[in-house]
Amino acid sequence: MSDAPGPAPRAESAPLVEVEHLVKHFPTRGGWGKNREVVRAVDGVSFTIRRGETLGLVGESGSGKTTVGRTLLRLIEPTSGRVRFDGVELGSLTSGALRRLRPRMQIIFQDPYASLNPRLSVGEAIAEPLRVHGLARGPELERNVVSLLDRVGLPSSARDRYPHEFSGGQRQRICIARALSVKPSFIVCDEAVSALDLSIQAQVLNLLRDLSDDLGLTYLFITHNLNVLRSIADRVLVMYLGQVVESATVEQLFSAPGHPYTRALLSANPSPDPLAAFDPVSLEGEIPSAVHPPSGCRFHTRCPEVFEPCPTIIPSNHLVNREPPHRVLCHLAEDAA
Ligand code: SF4
Repeated sequence: MSDAPGPAPRAESAPLVEVEHLVKHFPTRGGWGKNREVVRAVDGVSFTIRRGETLGLVGESGSGKTTVGRTLLRLIEPTSGRVRFDGVELGSLTSGALRRLRPRMQIIFQDPYASLNPRLSVGEAIAEPLRVHGLARGPELERNVVSLLDRVGLPSSARDRYPHEFSGGQRQRICIARALSVKPSFIVCDEAVSALDLSIQAQVLNLLRDLSDDLGLTYLFITHNLNVLRSIADRVLVMYLGQVVESATVEQLFSAPGHPYTRALLSANPSPDPLAAFDPVSLEGEIPSAVHPPSGCRFHTRCPEVFEPCPTIIPSNHLVNREPPHRVLCHLAEDAA
């Protein structure tokens, strides 16, 4: 992947997605009533995504980032919290109204092969959402499919072939065309390039960036790979055990990471520059159970900088830089003057 600096900063625009205190707890198996334990997958997450912005969401497996993406789209119901999309509170919508809004909010998954029905030709797979939502039929449907294939860099002849005849990168292009077919304004990309080789990853990221520029798309880009975010995101949220521990612009995150967890993730992230100074921070052990998250700071059991208050006192979210805002959930962080 290229070490090109992140995308040029975009002008401030109105929020498209507003998330307030989003919580998703999954009941565990066993136990009854009040004795039943819960997995605290997402535990009070708030953020805003502006129109045309790409917000990155990064963290280890088990941090809750995928649950945020799916709860936000209401593919799973939140336990509590509010999500507003284009000013409309999703929790207040009837199922019919939510269905009508669905085309505007799409998702692209990690495994393009599993996302495509092997029995449908590529043309049928792309046409399916258009048919389901009654957006096109007959010759117009055919024209749309060819135009979408062209938009994602595939020939019109791909229409009559089947997913297994394509490489992983081409299959992800087909999934992108399918997501674009219903003219969304917001797409959740859930580890959308993680299964691809580095060179193919870069091509698909370029395509997603071009689509965002040309069509004004807004992305929530979920990944465990900070290098991927460096090349596509405007801002980044770092998640650990169901909470956002740092939020910053890409530049702030890479030049002055404020949270020890972010520093450890960056340290584990191979730099594309072999001559770059390397001062690794070790991150011991696995992410703890989200059924019984550690007391105080949730990161204290693995933090290389843990000190006296961390195991017992919950840290505040410090605004370490005002403009652009940079927030860090840690006792060591200090509010900007
Ligand atoms: Fe580490 Fe303490 Fe900061 Fe948590 S609050 S990240 S344990 S220094």
